[in-house]
Amino acid sequence: MEFSGFKYIVVGAGFWGLTLAERLATIRKEKVLILEAKNHPGGNCYSYLDRETNIEVHQYGSHIFHTNNDRVWNYINQFSGFNNYRHKVLTKYKNEVYSMPINLMTINQFYKKNLTPAEAKWLLQTEGSAAQIKVVQSFEDVIVSQIGYPLYEAFIKGYTVKQWDQDPKNLPAYIIKRLPVRYDYNLNYFDDRYQGIPGLGYGEIFNQMLKRPGIEIRYNVDYFDIRDQLPREAIIFYSGPIDKYFDYCYGELSWRSLTFKEETVPLNDFQGTSVMNFADMENPYTRCHEFRHYHPEIDFSNLTKTIIFYEKSKETKKGEVPYYPIGMKKDKEIYEKYKAKAQTLKNVYLGGRLGEYAYMDMHQVILKALDLFAQI
Ligand code: UDP
Repeated sequence: MEFSGFKYIVVGAGFWGLTLAERLATIRKEKVLILEAKNHPGGNCYSYLDRETNIEVHQYGSHIFHTNNDRVWNYINQFSGFNNYRHKVLTKYKNEVYSMPINLMTINQFYKKNLTPAEAKWLLQTEGSAAQIKVVQSFEDVIVSQIGYPLYEAFIKGYTVKQWDQDPKNLPAYIIKRLPVRYDYNLNYFDDRYQGIPGLGYGEIFNQMLKRPGIEIRYNVDYFDIRDQLPREAIIFYSGPIDKYFDYCYGELSWRSLTFKEETVPLNDFQGTSVMNFADMENPYTRCHEFRHYHPEIDFSNLTKTIIFYEKSKETKKGEVPYYPIGMKKDKEIYEKYKAKAQTLKNVYLGGRLGEYAYMDMHQVILKALDLFAQI
């Protein structure tokens, strides 16, 4: 394979790599080569249109775009318009369906009460104090001191153990800080000003980004097979796992991956919503995605089949594509070593969820890429 003539090489066509490639090509009129190990762009944000049903299937699980950042929103809107989808998540616990994240609806349904916001706050404060958490440090400490054991054990513990395969007493608190606890009837999953799903699907965004003159993408190329053949003077943007980049010299970071059981069900509507979480430990799946619900602007009334994915979490074996960094204490120590080593590299930038070992959402990754582009 020929690599000469490219000053910029991007490894991985996820949002981080694509944003950098797009900016370099559009603003700096540079030639950029993107090397992608998969056979499609977008990394784990990739989606495709199922021809038969016209349903946009998120191949690696649901992705909902949300941001408060004007720069990110204006940037992404150059490539696609967004629909007005607002994400709402339900969770099944002991054969009953509740609203997530925990809000006044969840609290009143769970305690079989009719509390006002102030009364609900007082109740959860009482439950939190009763838990007598002395030092608030771990995932479990943070959430239990906030909501107490009853709600924690119903809606958080089982899901979290299934997702991370760790005792929440040992998990870092930042994971649960992603979820708000609300004392009103706001049932939305996200609070951000800008939200939605790309009208023509994520695939269209990636196609538009790749269309910029100067960008060439090669699929099914494993960077580690060809890294020795790349021009010495090339500037590399690498978005694979940081531990793999350094051949695990300081040890392996811990990651989680997902598996999906895909079903096409002969029904117009399977579960009545896009995501149903499963809070009970007995159910091995963490959630079920039904993709038709992501496009309320499309008339699906004549649909006779619907596509669902049951999601299960799994350990990431060495070399497999990770989905989530876990970020245990030992990981932080290992990561700091890799980060310091990365800073000594000339002409190599590591970024994205895997390159930075950070549980970032799409909008955060895009912002990081825009900032890096501005900086270089
Ligand atoms: N979580 C939970 N119960 C739920 C949903 C989430 O305990 O019904 C916890 C769980 O530990 C999860 C974390 O909150 O990993 C963050 O949830 P989020 O929805 O942000 O996860 P993602 O969609 O990124 O997998």
